[in-house]
Amino acid sequence: MLNIVIFGAPGSGKGTQSELLVNKYGINHISTGDVLRAEIKKGTQLGKTAQGYIEQGQLIPDDLMIDILADVLDNLKESKGVIFDGFPRTIAQAEALKQMLAERGQDVTVMIDLEVPEDILMARLINRGKQTGRADDNEETIKKRLNVYHTQTAPLVDWYKNEGKHHRIKGFGELEQIFRDVCEAIEKRF
Ligand code: AMP
Repeated sequence: MLNIVIFGAPGSGKGTQSELLVNKYGINHISTGDVLRAEIKKGTQLGKTAQGYIEQGQLIPDDLMIDILADVLDNLKESKGVIFDGFPRTIAQAEALKQMLAERGQDVTVMIDLEVPEDILMARLINRGKQTGRADDNEETIKKRLNVYHTQTAPLVDWYKNEGKHHRIKGFGELEQIFRDVCEAIEKRF
């Protein structure tokens, strides 16, 4: 089983790389952001709760987020592997993921850390906001999300280094080159 954590700041290209990886390796993709946006669209109670946090650029509380991920994982059948996109975002989530996978006799194969300078992140997100109308891709909320990333999520780099799983990739420049580097990092590990 190939379990890839695709990691990086908002706008680092996690979703784009995930799509390419799904095509190449035939594995499942779990984007917690997509799961939450789908709940908002359906108008569920969970969606209503999530919307407040998302619009403020804040993280959904760990307990709730971990329950959501456990549910999605339980519903995956006959999977060759999973790309975790946007999860974990805190140390508590990383610990929960480790435990959930251990219960299935598995582990994270590699954590791919897409490194992109802040000015490029900002430009990409503003552009995405214009193209998709995504509500949290406006300048004010982007700044909050980047701040949340630095304070709550970036400490996971050291956490995964300790686990011997961290692999940093230059996440800007030519898309094909980034994808080649991502694949090379993955193939070294399995
Ligand atoms: P994303 O699409 O991954 O950028 O996620 C959009 C928003 O969904 C984030 O800014 C958070 O508010 C929320 N979210 C997504 N994944 C998580 C997570 N693992 N933990 C907490 N909040 C999350």
